[in-house]
Amino acid sequence: YEYRPWMLKRADTVCGYCGDGCQITVQTKDNLLVEVNSAQGAGRNNGDLCARGFFGFHAAANPERLAKPLIRQNGVLVEATWEAALQLTAQRLMEIKAQSGPQAVGGLISGRLTNEELYLFQKLLRLAIGTNNVDSSARYGHLNAVRAMQRVQGTHRWTVAFEDIVHADVLLLIGTNLTEANPITGLKVKEAVKKHHADLLTIESVQPAIDTISNIANLSRLHLCMGPEQFPAAVLGLLKAALEGDHVDASLRAQVPDYVAALSQQLNRLAWTDVADGTGASQQQFSEIVAALARGRRVVILAGQGLLRSPGGYHASLNLLDLLLLLGKAAAPGCGFAPLTEENNDQGAVEMGAVAEWLPGALDVSDEAARKQISRVWKGTPPDQTGATLMDMIEQAGTGRIKAMLIAGENPVASLPAHLGVKDKLKKLDFLVCQELFLTETASLAHVVLPAASSLEKAGTFTNAEGHAQAVRPAIEPVGDSRPDWEMFSALALLLGTPWEYADAKDLLKEIRGVVPGYGPLGPTPVSAKVNQDALGRYLAGGFRQDLTDRYTLPLPANRPAAALTLGLVQSLFHSGKLSTRAKGLLQVEATGTLRLNPDDAARLTVSTGDRVTLSNERGSCTATVKLLDRVPKGFAWFPDHFAQDITRLCEITIDQETKVPSFRAASVSVVKVEEE
Ligand code: SF4
Repeated sequence: YEYRPWMLKRADTVCGYCGDGCQITVQTKDNLLVEVNSAQGAGRNNGDLCARGFFGFHAAANPERLAKPLIRQNGVLVEATWEAALQLTAQRLMEIKAQSGPQAVGGLISGRLTNEELYLFQKLLRLAIGTNNVDSSARYGHLNAVRAMQRVQGTHRWTVAFEDIVHADVLLLIGTNLTEANPITGLKVKEAVKKHHADLLTIESVQPAIDTISNIANLSRLHLCMGPEQFPAAVLGLLKAALEGDHVDASLRAQVPDYVAALSQQLNRLAWTDVADGTGASQQQFSEIVAALARGRRVVILAGQGLLRSPGGYHASLNLLDLLLLLGKAAAPGCGFAPLTEENNDQGAVEMGAVAEWLPGALDVSDEAARKQISRVWKGTPPDQTGATLMDMIEQAGTGRIKAMLIAGENPVASLPAHLGVKDKLKKLDFLVCQELFLTETASLAHVVLPAASSLEKAGTFTNAEGHAQAVRPAIEPVGDSRPDWEMFSALALLLGTPWEYADAKDLLKEIRGVVPGYGPLGPTPVSAKVNQDALGRYLAGGFRQDLTDRYTLPLPANRPAAALTLGLVQSLFHSGKLSTRAKGLLQVEATGTLRLNPDDAARLTVSTGDRVTLSNERGSCTATVKLLDRVPKGFAWFPDHFAQDITRLCEITIDQETKVPSFRAASVSVVKVEEE
């Protein structure tokens, strides 16, 4: 665009990509996005930004943005007026509710929407429809950590903040390729190491490599490299080393000897040879890491989606909290467990109650007092029975139990493995309405598609991974006829007979603060939470026994044929890819996914960069282009998450019994070169 700097309009807002929650300044001219930057001193990022922050805004300007509501007529989606689309949606929801009851309706929302939208979405489902069938992208992994924190320390948030990472003297990173997945958190870790000489320990499925000096693993004093499905076993190795190495905090041992004895008894049953088989790491390596953690005064454990999305991610989170407890670090100042989120507002989704089991404030739906309290603000009572989660809803759509779904910003057809038949199951719905920026694979199946405004076109708040709520401000007008999602929820509520009057997002935040006191950026924001001593006491007194025998089982050793590799999905620059793969600036970095192979494995398979290979196992096969990368450990192959639609069909899916988090991160595959004709 032709412009002089003084011609530009500025909006200070928050990046909509990852849970680091960077503050950005968006510069526009004549309602067109020109550039994004961040001033020093601004936000939790202090002016730093990653490539997604600088160039991800292109997604909002993508010409494929939906600009008009669409209604399916004779099998084809055609443009319609807002009035017609909303009327039809409300009418079909009312009919289905009248015929089959409120449990026949379900809602799924993205953790990329604002807190105000997440809050209103669950209120719409709970109050206007009457169901707890509400879920969000936090179910893909973050809930494993949040449920574990709630159970052990009685808080659903980090008990540390970015400042504690910078000033930590020992940092353990597990299951996160931080430099790519959460780059600003990565800078805090680098500052701790380079400026304050923190002892950095890493467990990741990358190898330190000389050609990538920016990678966190290169700064690590002790690095364990293993596949994503091995992280939970590594946590067991740490726990075992803590108990056997006599690192248990003396006062904890004196106060709750039963807890320490019960854990010791379980861990004693694990042989070190099995731990070594399950992780590729030795007893000595685990002991060294634990000794460093025990020595530290300010210890922070950062866990990424590599761990949280693994089968056993919930138990691994519990076990890491046990580790901090045993070492006497759980409630010590500057110490804590810090799970990293993928979607920018997954933490907000949990705190706003956009999950089946919790009301706003992470209060259990079965908690009588919580429902009474919220009903005073809502002038109506939310249902008490636990609702269907993401995977339940997909299943129930297939069986006909759920007949209508409202999906806002989520794309389960592309996000979940194809062999689950999500597309066919959603096609069985009597009614599907999607609120979306683009005509995604899921929106293409809908009966009504409502065009949504992007985060650069609306106001509200986002809550970053550390629990810091920050103001989101519009930089441009909504594209075409698109609208903020909360306006659609509000309009639907009115048509469903529950008139809510919200003038704007601020009005909504006011109501949220009535339900979750002090929430939002308007007052002092509780950046971190304190361990709830009552909850911790209950856990130590016997709460830990609930699933004690299940928590210390090593995953079965991989049973793979001699020529096979373990395929792991890894997060990178693009995360889930819902937005980033629509940003032209980011696509210049990588336009399609490539299968990363260790050069030694590639030599054995007689392939090199650019060659095509077939990956196959008992679940199917697909092809991919190879890229050699020496950071990939031998015996493993990586594929980036966001381009992995074909690849996920090879992954086995497991669903956590307790948290209902689906896991589909790894597969054992045979790799064969495709011979060119
Ligand atoms: Fe955005 Fe995360 Fe990058 Fe910050 S680190 S600019 S929040 S993607």
